[in-house]
Amino acid sequence: MRRGLLIVFTGNGKGKTTAALGMALRGAGHAMKIRILQFIKGAMKYGELTSLTHLDGVSIEPLGSGFTWQKESLDEDRELARLGWEKARREILHGDYDLIVLDELCYVLSYGLLRLDLVLETLRNRPPHLHVVVTGRNAPDDLIREADCATEMRVIKHHYVDQGIKAQQGIEF
Ligand code: ATP
Ligand code: MG
Repeated sequence: MRRGLLIVFTGNGKGKTTAALGMALRGAGHAMKIRILQFIKGAMKYGELTSLTHLDGVSIEPLGSGFTWQKESLDEDRELARLGWEKARREILHGDYDLIVLDELCYVLSYGLLRLDLVLETLRNRPPHLHVVVTGRNAPDDLIREADCATEMRVIKHHYVDQGIKAQQGIEF
C-alpha cells in the first residue's frame, strides 16, 4: 500500500541536499518518476545536474536559472520565488510524479519569500501517493508539524568552519 510521505531535511550540518539526492537515486532503482526542483542556484557546476540526466525517470531543474538570488534585491528574489513555486505547485498537483524534491525550499520560506500557508495548503492537497522531500536550513515549525518525517543535520565539525577548506568537487558540488 503506497502512502505518500512528506519528509524534511533541515539543520545547519552538511548532508541535507545529499540525503534528498540519495532518495532520488533509491527511487530511480524502482523505476519511480522523480522530479527535483532546486530553489537556490549556486554558482557551482553541480555534479548531480550531469549525473542525474543519466538516470531514467529522473529530471532536475534549477529554478530561476540565469538569475542570481541576492539578498539586496528582495523584490526580484520574491518574484523568482513566486515563479519557482508556481512551477513546483503545478508539478505537485498535476505532475504525475512519484517523488518530488524541493531542494532549499526551507531557505526560501525562512527568508519570507513565499507564503508558508499557501505552500502547506498545496502540500496537503497533493496526490495521496506522492512523496515530497523538502530541504534547507531553518525549516519553519509549521512545516515540521505537517511532515511525516523530519531530520535535523547537526554540525559536529565542518571542514570550512574549522579549517577554512573551500568547497571540494564531488563533496560540495
Ligand atoms: P550538501 O549539499 O553537501 O548535502 P546541505 O544541503 O546540507 O549540504 P546547505 O545548507 O544547502 O547544505 O549548504 C550548501 C553547502 O554549504 C554545502 O555544500 C556544504 O558543504 C556547505 N555547508 C553545509 N553546512 C555547512 C556549515 N555548517 N558550515 C559551512 N558550510 C557548510
Ligand atoms: Mg542543500
